[in-house]
Amino acid sequence: MQSTMQEAPLLVREILRHGKQVHGRSEVATYDGSSFRRGSFSEVALNAERLASGLASLGIGNGDRVGTFCFNHQEHLEAYLAIPSMGAVLHTLNVRLFPEQLRYVIDHAGDRVIICDATLAPALSRVLDECPSVEQVVVVGEGDTSCLGATMSYEELLERGEPRYDWPVLDERQAAGMCYTSGTTGNPKGVAYSHRSTYLHSLASTSTATIGISSSDRALVVVPQFHANAWGLPYAAWLAGADLIMPRQFLQAEPLVRIIEAERPTVAAAVPTIWNEVLRYAQAHGSDLSSFRTIVCGGAAVPESLMRAFDELYGVPVIQAWGMTETSPLGAVAVPPRGATGEEAWTYRRKTGRVVFGVEARVVDIQGNVAARDGSTIGEFEVRGPWVTGSYFADTSTDRFHDGWLRTGDVGTLDALGYLDITDRTKDVIKTGGEWISSVELENALMAHPDVFEAAVVAVPDARWDERPLACVVLNEGADISPSELEGFLEGRVARFWVPDRWSFIDEVPKTSVGKFDKKVLRARYAEGNLDVVSTDRPQDRS
Ligand code: ADP
Repeated sequence: MQSTMQEAPLLVREILRHGKQVHGRSEVATYDGSSFRRGSFSEVALNAERLASGLASLGIGNGDRVGTFCFNHQEHLEAYLAIPSMGAVLHTLNVRLFPEQLRYVIDHAGDRVIICDATLAPALSRVLDECPSVEQVVVVGEGDTSCLGATMSYEELLERGEPRYDWPVLDERQAAGMCYTSGTTGNPKGVAYSHRSTYLHSLASTSTATIGISSSDRALVVVPQFHANAWGLPYAAWLAGADLIMPRQFLQAEPLVRIIEAERPTVAAAVPTIWNEVLRYAQAHGSDLSSFRTIVCGGAAVPESLMRAFDELYGVPVIQAWGMTETSPLGAVAVPPRGATGEEAWTYRRKTGRVVFGVEARVVDIQGNVAARDGSTIGEFEVRGPWVTGSYFADTSTDRFHDGWLRTGDVGTLDALGYLDITDRTKDVIKTGGEWISSVELENALMAHPDVFEAAVVAVPDARWDERPLACVVLNEGADISPSELEGFLEGRVARFWVPDRWSFIDEVPKTSVGKFDKKVLRARYAEGNLDVVSTDRPQDRS
């Protein structure tokens, strides 16, 4: 029997239309360092219409790539809505890329126009001459942009545009946006998000099985809009009518806490390093973080100590989520199952997350066989689903795909209730004497020590055991603790042979362009002899 259901394509223009027609009074508040600039969803939608029309007057048409080189703010949201809805492709550029990578991604994507924050002009100017596809740079905000040569201001572009843009009907499978992975090895790889995937992924973020974004929320978008679409928050908030609070470049703990106290967001998303810094600042200054109903934390393993501190000090649940640029990114959220309370709930909250509807996950063991969902067999996660990429943009390599599944490069277990538990990335696992040590679990165990602010553990070569863990530790201000005391602390918390025998006390863990621990920098520093390392010569029995 044929269905009689309507077959309207799932398009970003529908997200735009709904937010405009139903949630016109919701607002976007953009922080400028001292006060907030506010725009209603009605105003944002009108600007999006003018922006699309302005871009069309520059010759932008179906399938053309428009780059954004911006922090999080209202204009960036307007670009999120207008560019895909007009049939062009929104390419969010990571503002922290090295010049060579930035040049590569602009050129590879073939961006024709770039919308750039005035404050970021110097960074873009370093590569612009070598990007022949770029015909026009449009500047948002005030500042000296002479280094970019001839530009047009964002206001000027909107003035050229007309309101009431006639949004076209598109094929839902065409690209709406694209984002490059940060390319820890080799060149960054482009992931193209379709209209259909963006639509479905945005709905998923409003589900109570995930983070349940609703019209009662005020969402603080700390995760950059160039990092996997700010994890989908701008689109989800827009369609649900949640207010958006945009911090621009003010991402340090002090301004973030100021924004939180002033605007009282109910939900926010960022990587663990940011929440760790916010926590330290808030504790030192007696700040009020109680406005949150939940905080979403992911992109890297979330230390249990961080989650417990937010719970105990502010009554705020920090919910761990897992995803990748390749998965739009929402893949798993660590919401405990029905009935789990108290310590039992913690056994689920410290896992990486429960697979969300729309994503299917499996674990493939080292021999390439699909492993049991028993919560104990370790292997690499593979995922598939309507918002998981099936290939990279203009790239024919196939090594990241397996029978239609994306190989995540993450290692761990999957249980019968769909909870993933990632123990490491394949490239960060420490292989010692024929066994594996999870760098993530060791870091978590170390960060549970009250004197430890941050800890990153990397593998270093060892003549006898192949590899041994090197713990790079940042202590809290004023703390003074020896490697042997930390070793004593780890005894009983991890297997004895896991306990590191090489220690380095450092001022700060180096971070990647999206704020994660940059272990390749630590490995390189060690290899070059640029780390002060204390070896403690512990006996290495295999217990
Ligand atoms: P990058 O590869 O530059 O870090 P992504 O943001 O796409 O860019 O990173 C995806 C990866 O981040 C995942 O493959 C996984 O290794 C890691 N990750 C994301 N969320 C978590 C989490 N909750 N726990 C552990 N690792 C995570």
